[in-house]
Amino acid sequence: MLFGDTEVPWQFIHEDDWGGQVMRRLDDGWCAALDRDSMRCTIYAQRPMICREFELGSEECLEERKGSSAAYLEDC
Ligand code: SF4
Repeated sequence: MLFGDTEVPWQFIHEDDWGGQVMRRLDDGWCAALDRDSMRCTIYAQRPMICREFELGSEECLEERKGSSAAYLEDC
């Protein structure tokens, strides 16, 4: 979810059914700004506030990474 002024390029923004702005997702369900090969953010310097506040290595981060690993294993 994007709040207030954002520097996120418009092509990565989607307006949800409630009129809120969110990061656009591609068919794989992941953020459109994510480089699928390097798994790095292509708009790191312009990433939304919620991404800046998501602490690397936090419990939530580690949970998400577990989910990501599972997604890769399902593709194998
Ligand atoms: S940090 Fe991740 S979720 Fe946030 S904009 Fe970049 S690729 Fe998307």
